[in-house]
Amino acid sequence: MRLTRALALAAMLVTSPIAAALPATADAQPNRIRIEYVAPKSPEHQAIFEMAKERRVLEKLQEMYGAFKLPVDLVLRTVSCDGVSNAWYAQGRVSVCYEYLEDVKNMMPSETTAHGITPADAVAGQFFYVMSHEMGHAIFDLLSIPVFGRGEDAADQFATYIMLQFGKDQARRLILGAAHSYKNFIDRPKVTAPLKAFSDTHSPPPVRFFNLLCLAYGADRNVFGDLVTEGFLPEQRASACRREYREVAYAFKTLIGPHLDKQIAQRVLQTNWLPDEGARPAQQ
Ligand SMILES: [Zn+2]
Repeated sequence: MRLTRALALAAMLVTSPIAAALPATADAQPNRIRIEYVAPKSPEHQAIFEMAKERRVLEKLQEMYGAFKLPVDLVLRTVSCDGVSNAWYAQGRVSVCYEYLEDVKNMMPSETTAHGITPADAVAGQFFYVMSHEMGHAIFDLLSIPVFGRGEDAADQFATYIMLQFGKDQARRLILGAAHSYKNFIDRPKVTAPLKAFSDTHSPPPVRFFNLLCLAYGADRNVFGDLVTEGFLPEQRASACRREYREVAYAFKTLIGPHLDKQIAQRVLQTNWLPDEGARPAQQ
């Protein structure tokens, strides 16, 4: 996900030996996600390691992403990263650092925000968004999905599209929770940044924020109409969002739909993954 490592990985993805060696449909099977909570290197990550295991975060992702029919196993793992906060995909493995999980926890609001984002939804939305972004890279690679445009934007679109398929209530909570991760950027309406900040393989965070909101509004302007009326998504952009969403939906259905186990996907999308509305998150 971030940033220097992602630059190197982006080059690696182009010539992934896994994708090159395997036709996407050879022995493709659902339920090929394997998970691993790697023991933390440092005692300071012990608590977040225990929390991740106790909340079964990887097991949930394993079940959600079991609907994809993959030609090989895909490993999801939590790891220590020597102080670097990151998540990435490479060589058949999606990895997320304990440092990153700490950041997600630290971004959690102390109480439900003025826009109705609960602390639990902020954590779940941000975590699911980043892991689904990495899953996007993984799926593109393992299924040899052609990608027009920038891979990082495509991975964001993949993640956002997935979040929007979980029914109105969960979709809204996931999207707003994910949007909360950009809080520090959108709280400053004037952006000053060095020119090279715009050269990254990832779009700048404020652009990713607007892209996220735009796809959500394009998917359902009733559920997400307040993003425009409350001024988060400018009307000028909003008018194009239906079309943007339909383009992503068409790409997903055409290129990735055939690789989904429909029965499993339906069950996953009808499951309630988020804590009960209004429930207080567990005390840390
Ligand atoms: Zn990425």
